[in-house]
Amino acid sequence: AKDAGRNTMRFYNPVMQTKVNHQSQMEAALRRALEGDNLQLHLQPQFDEGHKVFAMEALLRWQDPDMGWVSPADFIPVAESSGQIVPLGEWVMQKACQLLAGWQHHAAMKELILAVNISARQFYHPHFVEHIQSCIAHTGIDPHYLELEITESLLIDDLENTINKMNLLRGMGIRFSLDDFGTGYASLGYLKRLPLSSLKIDQTFVRDLLSDPNDEAIVSTIVALGKSLELKVIAEGVETLEQEERLKALKCQAFQGYYFGRPAPAEHWLETL
Ligand code: C2E
Ligand code: CA
Ligand code: CA
Ligand code: CA
Repeated sequence: AKDAGRNTMRFYNPVMQTKVNHQSQMEAALRRALEGDNLQLHLQPQFDEGHKVFAMEALLRWQDPDMGWVSPADFIPVAESSGQIVPLGEWVMQKACQLLAGWQHHAAMKELILAVNISARQFYHPHFVEHIQSCIAHTGIDPHYLELEITESLLIDDLENTINKMNLLRGMGIRFSLDDFGTGYASLGYLKRLPLSSLKIDQTFVRDLLSDPNDEAIVSTIVALGKSLELKVIAEGVETLEQEERLKALKCQAFQGYYFGRPAPAEHWLETL
């Protein structure tokens, strides 16, 4: 057994081994995070043309006692591959519905939409719909203000099943937006069949908008597509006034990004709005 162990070790190059250790360390730390109290939701506002906030996106934040702040870009992929995205996503949904319940009793906040990111693995979990139903029942929220942000990766698999599940949720009042649009595989034929409310232009197209004519062409194509399908089009990753102005010139009517506001705890926005 000892020899076998040694032989097995030879299959890992140092880079691989670091990756494997990193993965299992992160999984263990995530388990502790789920048991403990190290997770938070931050919110980033979405603005209309007149600079009025119409929605907030919930973004998960995790502070590990040893590693410090861990970026979702690092831990979400780990949680997706380990399956921990399911309990993690349930935690997010519970928090999100609690937040919404608070807003819906608050004159200045009651029209706000709360958008929650959903990974494919969560969406396909057999208890996904049931869990959302129970969050809605427990908090008493109006589900018309809950939006699920999905990505095109959801659409690769079993399209009929995906559409059925989306329609079921839509029937409960829940909205959908298609995140990171333009980076994936969605064909125009799919788009028409999905019960979507909005498209989010991926931030990579906004980043070089002022210098890259290709990005400008992509943005105006997405805006035109959104118009013809009667979807709201939201530009992500807007960092400067110049980008906002160019986006407006391209007829984009909704914005999210550091220029408008960075993700911050819910209490911050309660005081600001
Ligand atoms: P995303 O859904 O595309 O979220 C947008 C990301 O861009 C967020 O990163 C946000 O903080 C960042 N961002 C916002 N405005 C700007 C800007 O002007 N410039 C730049 N450079 N970045 C901006 P974050 O919070 O690190 O999240 C990364 C990704 O992790 C998210 O990308 C999403 O895919 C995933 N994620 C975050 N929270 C959750 C969650 O609760 N559940 C799931 N399943 N995924 C999540
Ligand atoms: Ca998102
Ligand atoms: Ca995005
Ligand atoms: Ca993304």
